[in-house]
Amino acid sequence: TNEEAAAKAAATTADTGGPTIFDNIIAKEIPSNIVYEDEKVLAFRDINPQAPVHVLVIPKVRDGLTGLDKAEPRHAEILGQLLYTAKVVAEKEGLANGYRVVINNGGEGCQSVYHLHVHVLGGRQMKWPPG
Ligand code: C5P
Repeated sequence: TNEEAAAKAAATTADTGGPTIFDNIIAKEIPSNIVYEDEKVLAFRDINPQAPVHVLVIPKVRDGLTGLDKAEPRHAEILGQLLYTAKVVAEKEGLANGYRVVINNGGEGCQSVYHLHVHVLGGRQMKWPPG
């Protein structure tokens, strides 16, 4: 299942601090379906969507933010921009009935790409608690 695949991916991926696939997406070396872009952030559709709308919002410059656990005071502004962009994306995608914003962190959080990203999920009824 997708759930098992995600858990496996997370378990076998480590926070090495090295480049990730998102660097190639930011550089447009590999195509992505961009929903929103400005100087600081990029929002694109997840390649393996878990809801009718599934968008990832990422900082264009990682600056050490492999995951939320690496956040320092200097990251406060970009963290705010990521969350604000999640709202802009949700509005743009017509998620007027609600949506979910998720940050997976570390192995137990099922993080698989070590470049901070905010998931915006919507277009269906979400469940609580998440798996
Ligand atoms: O939070 P987590 O690290 O598990 O999320 C990574 C996300 O990046 C996954 O939802 C995966 O589908 C997505 N991804 C993508 N394009 C890639 C590689 C991963 O949208 N080329």
